[in-house]
Amino acid sequence: MQVTEAAATPTPTRNLRGKSAIVTGSTSGIGLGIARALAGAGVNVMFNGFGPSVDIDPIRKELERHDRIKTAISGADMSKEEDIAQMIEDARTAFGQIDILVNNAGIQHVEAIETFPVSKWNAIIAVDLSAAFHTIRAVVPEMKKRGWGRIINIASVHALVASPFKSAYVAAKHGILGLTKTVALEVAEHGITANAICPGYVLTPLVEKQIPETAKARMLTEEQVVHDVLLHAQPTHKFVTTEELGELTLFLCQDGAKSITGAAIPVEGGWTAQ
Ligand code: NAD
Repeated sequence: MQVTEAAATPTPTRNLRGKSAIVTGSTSGIGLGIARALAGAGVNVMFNGFGPSVDIDPIRKELERHDRIKTAISGADMSKEEDIAQMIEDARTAFGQIDILVNNAGIQHVEAIETFPVSKWNAIIAVDLSAAFHTIRAVVPEMKKRGWGRIINIASVHALVASPFKSAYVAAKHGILGLTKTVALEVAEHGITANAICPGYVLTPLVEKQIPETAKARMLTEEQVVHDVLLHAQPTHKFVTTEELGELTLFLCQDGAKSITGAAIPVEGGWTAQ
């Protein structure tokens, strides 16, 4: 049987070249992995996050050269509404439009509820939850106008289940899942999808920092925390990688994922199947 040429033609938006993305918290860890994956598909990337420019600038230059894309960087603090507005404006100036929004910036603090510092609660709710409200409401109008958009919120397995000593983080992550579902319903008829990726443990600076905190809260050694708490939760007994999360983000941006919306997608080695 002869295969016709039409049957072999790929769908047009499998090709993301020329689209533009903001990835918050992309100077490190998961956000950097997602930025690399998008750049590899030809997407212009607005980087955001803290840390010295000597670390991120060579990475940006290399992606610009290798993937033939544009990048920009914003040091906007995701706990500050005015900074967020400025970052969105800077992305529009740099690329002309924002097609893909990845809300990834996040912080964590591990401590028992009765001594959990109020300042940490406020900071975690601001960065891990409220920032996504501000970015989404700012980009939805232009996505609606163009009839295409992708909103991807990096939630956590802690958007689905709780762990002790993480009150603010679990509350913020459950909250961002509610926000994701609500936005998905509001934009469903406009060619825009909104989804939450729910990773288990990924060995990034965020997790490295919580190993000693968890050891203190649970009275364990750091080695016990890694094997008996972190990897014990995941039946694969392996950390999830930033590359896997980059691949999934890329898939959610493609045409094949246009009916996936309002979803919480677990990437946690089977944690929530138990
Ligand atoms: P990370 O510490 O490696 O990176 C966090 C990034 O956010 C950095 O670029 C940092 O500069 C930036 N950031 C922090 N506070 C900021 C602020 N106020 N304004 C702007 N940028 C800020 O952490 P990660 O592990 O890559 O985490 C990324 C996201 O993934 C977070 O939302 C986190 O909750 C989520 N997540 C992580 C894991 C994990 O195991 N690492 C698991 C599930 C979900």
